[in-house]
Amino acid sequence: MSLPACPKCSSEYVYEDQSMLICPECAYEWNPNEEVVDEDAIILKDSNGNLLAEGDKVTLIKDLKVKGSSQVLKVGTKATIKRFVDGDHDIDCKVDGAGDMMLKSQFVKKA
Ligand SMILES: [Zn+2]
Repeated sequence: MSLPACPKCSSEYVYEDQSMLICPECAYEWNPNEEVVDEDAIILKDSNGNLLAEGDKVTLIKDLKVKGSSQVLKVGTKATIKRFVDGDHDIDCKVDGAGDMMLKSQFVKKA
């Protein structure tokens, strides 16, 4: 079995040291048995621990007060995730009857 190329610099001179693979060219070390996680990808889960994806339809699991207004989004309100955002409010949603709004993934569940 041949060793994979270095994921950092694509060097083919990778060698094995116990469970680790080491690249002699850029000194990158990694464990081939660990899944490489794309650090830029945002992984979000709903209140039940299900993975969310952009475009998913979700419903609110609790009443949410809209910041800066007296409007309240009721539990069960439907929304569609438009995109993930890196932040406290981590999903940018189109909420039924309320328009575009930033929500927190822990307060929704997949519809
Ligand atoms: Zn390398």
